[in-house]
Amino acid sequence: MLVRARVLDTPDDPFAGGTLRSDDDAGLLVVDGVVAARGPFAEVLAAAPGHEVVDLRDGLLLPGFVDTHVHLPQVRVIAGLGMPLLEWLERCALPEEARLADPAYAASVATDFVSGLVQAGTTSALVFGAHFAPAVDLLFAEAAVAGLRVTAGLVVSDRLLRDDLWTTPQRAYDEGLALAQRWHGVDRARYAVTPRFSLSCGEPLLDACAALAREVDGAFVTSHINENVAEVLAVGEACSASYVDSYDRHGLLDGPAVLAHDVHPTGAELVTLAERGTAVAHCPTSNGALGSGLFPLARHLTAGVPVALGSDVGAGTGFSLLKEGLQAYFVQQLLGDAGHPLTPAHLLHLATTAGAAALGLPDVGHLGVGMRFDAQHYRPAPGSTLDVGLRHAASPDDALAKLFALGTPSDVRTVWVDGEVAHAALAVDA
Ligand SMILES: [Zn+2]
Repeated sequence: MLVRARVLDTPDDPFAGGTLRSDDDAGLLVVDGVVAARGPFAEVLAAAPGHEVVDLRDGLLLPGFVDTHVHLPQVRVIAGLGMPLLEWLERCALPEEARLADPAYAASVATDFVSGLVQAGTTSALVFGAHFAPAVDLLFAEAAVAGLRVTAGLVVSDRLLRDDLWTTPQRAYDEGLALAQRWHGVDRARYAVTPRFSLSCGEPLLDACAALAREVDGAFVTSHINENVAEVLAVGEACSASYVDSYDRHGLLDGPAVLAHDVHPTGAELVTLAERGTAVAHCPTSNGALGSGLFPLARHLTAGVPVALGSDVGAGTGFSLLKEGLQAYFVQQLLGDAGHPLTPAHLLHLATTAGAAALGLPDVGHLGVGMRFDAQHYRPAPGSTLDVGLRHAASPDDALAKLFALGTPSDVRTVWVDGEVAHAALAVDA
């Protein structure tokens, strides 16, 4: 197909001097899911006539979002407001997570979850699965049906949390390996070894996670880090190590890894993360909702730690990375001199190309030649405030700012992965 659209993307990192790329009347020739040619529409059409033209000029075309931290079992507990992290887990998240022991319930949650991501324009995601292997299997299956590019795994813990969520090191290894053998590298799916957080994982369990990560070639490791001050102190006592070292001493950061939050890192921890190439998933609405703190982006950038955005549903307040981008901007504003001012191009980069880099997806994140056609089309309702804003935007950067400020999943019309329309299934209650 030949897509005709107003396209915004960030092939060049704005944190390294890049600027927003904007083409008002672009032609993108998509062949076998890949952008085979791009340029002014008339030129691309003349060079490659005969393709079906998909005219999207009534809105904005963006790369699909890359969500680097989101929890499968928490789609139905979004907006449990008014609690700090450990209380929120106990009262809000974990009772729901325990319900995913029932495969029928887990199947309906997986449908809700994948639908939520796709409808928000997210085309790639690093997903915290469930504590139950059948539920993770159902997630992979649902993502495959929708077309979502998903990296996910079995969440494991063996202490602190309610005991119906516990596993053992051997079971964690065996169930994780079975899931990885079934899904890792199959179409768009990849496996992520997923210790919940070091506070809830004994040393033998973290060793088992590291062994699994070594066994599955190309597997990711993902977990949480330095989210909340009380939690950080508890990790220090329980693990006799810094939060980063509680993972690193097991070798869990030796390969590709993404750790969520890192609101309260020490300087030494940032050095280690940079040395390992471990990326941080910044989840600003979650940090706000749980009162976790204001993310020190400038310190991460100075240290050379890769940062991308995560929705952290369900502590985060929704799937849209537009909202996360706007909240990330607010947080840096609130930090005053310690904040890093964010332009609209920074926000788009954090939601797309930075996420793709964090997830090791070199042909995802922008819409240049040779990239996968993972894209989302925004077309707000006529007369809506976003519609008014886009029609009166002074520049492409201004239009993008309006999209981050005013856009919601209801403004997303179509989502593609590999050039195919991604399907958001209708939710069916269990
Ligand atoms: Zn999380």
